[in-house]
Amino acid sequence: MLAVAALTVIWAGVWHRTQSERQALEANALAQQRGVAVILSENLTQVVDRGRLIAIAASAWFEDPQPDAIHRLGGMLAADQAFLRGVLYDAALKPRFQSSPLFEGADFMQQLRQAVGRLHTPGGSSVEFVGDPTRRSDRWDVPLVLPVFEPGGAVRGYLLLSLDLGYLLSLYRDVELGPSGSIHVLARDGTAVAEARPEGLSGPRKLRQMADIAASPSVDGHLTLDMRGDGDTQLSVFRRSDRTPFTVVVSRGRDDILGAHTRFSLGVWITLCALTAVLVLVAWVWLRSLRRQQSLINALSRSDHEKHGLIVLLEDEKSRALTLASFDHLTGLNNRRMFNELAASHLAAARRSKKHYALLYFDLDRFKLINDSLGHHVGDLLLQAVADRLRENVRSSDIVGRMGGDEFAVLITGVENVADIDVIAAKLVAEISRPYPALDGHEVHVTPSIGIAFFPRDGHDITVLCRNADAAMYQSKRAGRGRYTYYDAAMNPSGSRSLTLERQLPRAIADGELVLHFQPKVQLSDMRIVGLEALVRWRHPEFGLVYPGEFIALAEASGLIAELGDWVMAACCSQLAAWKSQGLPTVPVAFNVSPHQLRDEQVVQRIASLLDQHGLTAQDIEIEITESCLVEPIDVAVRVLGRLEAMGLRIGLDDFGSGFSSLSQVRHLPIHKLKIDRSFVNDLRSSNDVGVIVTSIITLAHNLGMRVVAEGVELMDQLLYLKTANCDEVQGYFLSRPVGADDTARLLQHGHVHPQ
Ligand code: C2E
Ligand code: MG
Ligand code: MG
Repeated sequence: MLAVAALTVIWAGVWHRTQSERQALEANALAQQRGVAVILSENLTQVVDRGRLIAIAASAWFEDPQPDAIHRLGGMLAADQAFLRGVLYDAALKPRFQSSPLFEGADFMQQLRQAVGRLHTPGGSSVEFVGDPTRRSDRWDVPLVLPVFEPGGAVRGYLLLSLDLGYLLSLYRDVELGPSGSIHVLARDGTAVAEARPEGLSGPRKLRQMADIAASPSVDGHLTLDMRGDGDTQLSVFRRSDRTPFTVVVSRGRDDILGAHTRFSLGVWITLCALTAVLVLVAWVWLRSLRRQQSLINALSRSDHEKHGLIVLLEDEKSRALTLASFDHLTGLNNRRMFNELAASHLAAARRSKKHYALLYFDLDRFKLINDSLGHHVGDLLLQAVADRLRENVRSSDIVGRMGGDEFAVLITGVENVADIDVIAAKLVAEISRPYPALDGHEVHVTPSIGIAFFPRDGHDITVLCRNADAAMYQSKRAGRGRYTYYDAAMNPSGSRSLTLERQLPRAIADGELVLHFQPKVQLSDMRIVGLEALVRWRHPEFGLVYPGEFIALAEASGLIAELGDWVMAACCSQLAAWKSQGLPTVPVAFNVSPHQLRDEQVVQRIASLLDQHGLTAQDIEIEITESCLVEPIDVAVRVLGRLEAMGLRIGLDDFGSGFSSLSQVRHLPIHKLKIDRSFVNDLRSSNDVGVIVTSIITLAHNLGMRVVAEGVELMDQLLYLKTANCDEVQGYFLSRPVGADDTARLLQHGHVHPQ
């Protein structure tokens, strides 16, 4: 639009300028021509006036035709260069005096008589032409006749004067009118008496257009003529004198006046046309690229829209499948995985709470006997009835789950008083022990054996709590069933162990009792090792090799996790550097980072200096975070992750699916890899729904440009399923357990892993 407006303005400006220049040029030329016409017309008037003076002098001759008068008349004629000769006639047109010999023939005399006749017509002029002019060499003889009056006013005779128009017009030879310039002296009837051009004098001739000028009532004016009738128009200025029979016309060819300007304008117009063409071309190219860009943007937004639709669809499918996979089909209670997830998230909040949390773990005494004797159907009905009573007797904030077989668990959340747990447990024993009167026509009696573990006293995480509550449940059974028992650290051989480990952990880090084991991540397309995960172990002097499941939660609870994390990062880098110095073909090594570490902005600087210290690049290492890193406050963690990504580090989201975040929540975070939680891989065989979840997670992650790693692969059919579902990498005992540095070096050397 802007270009079109600019072009219009330029074109209009140039057009306007050209027009006004043409007008100015024409006005200039007209002024010059008018000047010449006025001067020549004045000149002719003066000459005719001088003729009149001679006529007055000639009147004296009639009174006294003495040599004196003749002499005076001849002198006047000789002195005036404008007149070639003069003849004085009496009233009867008899020549009485002539300045040079007479040579007029009968024709001339005839014309003279006609001219004299015109002098006497009413309204006639005081000067008349006598016939056509004659040319003698460069003299242009125009005969004029004037009356000679006697003092009384009567005509006494006539004076014939030969006006030399050639002489008069030659005076204007030097007036610059250009090659096309011309001066015409017209008679009253429009006949061009003389025509002066740069090439010389000519005439007389009749020009049609000149008749128009002669007929014009104005004394002066200008008009455009086509004298030659060839389309080459002339700009003519005319001037008529009242006292003479002459009209002067000064003309110039329009082409001559405007020629230089027309040529210059042509150049300007050509340049303008070229400029316009270039501008139009540029605008066209620009518009085309704009249109292409627009269609690209449209296509992108369409594909983004479609992608979003796909994500929503898959998320729905995933959540539907997740619901199906989260509940026990028989009782409608949470299944083990769901119970553990819900319980873990409650315990995370419980760490900051002053209230009491307890896990009640129980099974039904002699359930196997009921099953065997009354049949599985009655067994199933009993389990459903127990589930109903459980639901009725706990608060909605408590979490209830069927952990498998006849095992149930209840997480009592946020009670004010420890004694309340006692009341709840006693009530549950009593309620579940009430007879079940109508189970397919049978009345069934059953009692529960309950074990109770407190959080955090008896365990920092749900796994330990379950294990300890389970130990307490067996204590109930040993004590005679149909009762509840609190966990006592002494009843678990590892009970005191957790306290010991917590106490000894700081020393263990300082004394170098921690070691790293490495588990390979294998690319499914070619079974190549494409990464390692560093997993920490504690070489305990008394307990032997202790796994992180036992001490990471302790370290997190006691705040030692920062120190432990720093040790892992440093050990990982130094091990990588050692492998490199041995010339081994290394692959990126991932280490696990706890939420606590991600809330410390210094961690970025520490990783950078470790890389520097060991001569490694950011591509040599990766980090694995869990969804618990992404709970509020999330801003610092996101900032740290952003800076790590900017360094070139790749980030994996561990145990995906075990928490509550969905892919649409993490899609804007700098996550490059998704590790599907091993509980999904574990359930692949037993549940179709889990298969749907795993497949949709893989599709979604690929859509968001992430690689997918499945962890905990223990069986060939899990591996095959994952390969069919387009999973990128797998990790698990089926391929390799986590192994020490030396065994890892051998794996790296080999480069491939074959199922064991
Ligand atoms: P993770 O990061 O998900 O690590 C994978 C865990 O799965 C490892 O357990 C590994 O031995 C185990 N695993 C691998 N393949 C299989 C399999 O086929 N079947 C089964 N059942 N398990 C398999 P590990 O070494 O006991 O570590 C447990 C968790 O402790 C890790 O889970 C990680 O969250 C945490 N952890 C380990 N090392 C570190 C560490 O250096 N720092 C932090 N913050 N956490 C760590
Ligand atoms: Mg991990
Ligand atoms: Mg994991």
